Amino acid sequence: MLVSSELENLIAYYHEKKLAHAYLISTNNVQKCHEVLINVIKNIFCVQEYSDNCNKCSLCHLIDLNNLPSLKVIVPDGSFIKKEQILELKHLFSRDSQYTKDSIYIIENAEKMNKESANTMLKFLEEPEGNVIGFFITNNKDNVMLTIKSRCQIIECDFENTVNEEFNLSESEYQEHLDLLEKYLKNVENNAKESILNNEILRDLEKDDIKKNLQLCLAIYQKELNSRFNSDIIKEERFSFLNNLSINNLKKKVNLLINLLTEMQYNVNVNLLLDKMVLEMEGINNETL
Ligand SMILES: [Zn+2]
Repeated sequence: MLVSSELENLIAYYHEKKLAHAYLISTNNVQKCHEVLINVIKNIFCVQEYSDNCNKCSLCHLIDLNNLPSLKVIVPDGSFIKKEQILELKHLFSRDSQYTKDSIYIIENAEKMNKESANTMLKFLEEPEGNVIGFFITNNKDNVMLTIKSRCQIIECDFENTVNEEFNLSESEYQEHLDLLEKYLKNVENNAKESILNNEILRDLEKDDIKKNLQLCLAIYQKELNSRFNSDIIKEERFSFLNNLSINNLKKKVNLLINLLTEMQYNVNVNLLLDKMVLEMEGINNETL
């Protein structure tokens, strides 16, 4: 995982007691930033010598379960982060933590705080009760309420967009493709009899776009296959329905997709190719029945 050194510096600041009360982390990838920040917090809280997978200490374990009372993560409730969520946080942190010296909150998508929640937050920021440290994460710094922004130290934490290089897609385009493929592959895997109809999802796209989707399919199956041999590979929850496939079937599907992508380089009828794909996928699934 990519780690921002700026974020990692926080660990040293913490031990030197130089940590500010509130940070605004401006990033191009909120999810990755959250993951890195959680690692930083584990470093801070861990009662053992922290290592990447500390599974000895109960604090790291509680953090993994999102169950440590002195660490609260707030995500937007619908379109906004609401006042009630901040009030709940204030209530939670009004008592001293039983577990850790400090309490930490993370506000994800801080640009989604409205006037009410920002004002409620403000009182909290100005008179933090006890040892409270706050992290506001945003991918849209300009839209974060000035009242919040002005009271935070700002950290820039951009991640290289590896997705872009591989598929030449922006992060949001990539997520759009995955949304579509989640639906598509779920049908292919669970409902193979009707999966030719399912090809309607892809049929109307431009040939290049269909190709890109098939390349992504290949990457998804390859990742699932690789994860069977390497437990460090982080898989996307949304494709967990592939967990049931055997290694053998995964290999066959990877091969099938490689062959189809090769065929696509020639002037073939793409619609027929898509139909061939789902039929062969179905064949592979049925072999083991
Ligand atoms: Zn630990």
